Amino acid sequence: MRKLLQPFEDLLYLFFPHLCLACSHNAPPYGEDICTPCRATLPETNFHLSKENPFTDRFWGRVKIESGAALYLFAKSNRVQQLLHNLKYNGKKEIGITLGLRYGYMLKKTPHFASVDLIVPVPLHPKKERMRGYNQSEMFAIGLSESMKIPYHKDALQRVQHSDSQTKKSRMARLGNVETVFEIKKVKPLEGKHILLVDDVLTTGSTLEACANKLLELPGSKVSMATIAIAIH
Ligand SMILES: [Zn+2]
Repeated sequence: MRKLLQPFEDLLYLFFPHLCLACSHNAPPYGEDICTPCRATLPETNFHLSKENPFTDRFWGRVKIESGAALYLFAKSNRVQQLLHNLKYNGKKEIGITLGLRYGYMLKKTPHFASVDLIVPVPLHPKKERMRGYNQSEMFAIGLSESMKIPYHKDALQRVQHSDSQTKKSRMARLGNVETVFEIKKVKPLEGKHILLVDDVLTTGSTLEACANKLLELPGSKVSMATIAIAIH
């Protein structure tokens, strides 16, 4: 069916090209979601090039991680915020896969992520995932898995209680309530592994910290982290 409709879709695109998911201004090349100028100028952190960087600093004294990095800098009303908004709330799940693919190629070029065995996305609450139709962190994990040639475990972690409206709570309140929220669903494949824990954006880090602490309870496990963006305050 898709093949059959392709010529019509091509024609449609010629007259009604969709707009870039970052700037909402230019039309991206056919089959892509981000326009060429955005692709070249979105604010990359390059944190993956250093073992210690502002990403890993955020977890210092909180949880032991091997390596950590984010692809882009997130700021209120910048194009990265627009990208993440489209990924989370406008059903544009393919953007997560695209960015995962892109970041995976970059991470593979540094020694810091070379010993990662498998990728685990931060889970959404099942109710939330049903409503959204997908977990945006899992989309990022799928892209990373493909370009890094490392498997990902979708259901390794599970959110066991609803932590309502994370963004509206203070950091202290969140620290108190996130701790009991994650459980390991499949223990065996994770034991003794170097796990790359992935999420869409790093803000306070309390969710990633809670997940990492859980994974580090497993014998012989190590944790690194990667996100699409990091919020710099
Ligand atoms: Zn653009």
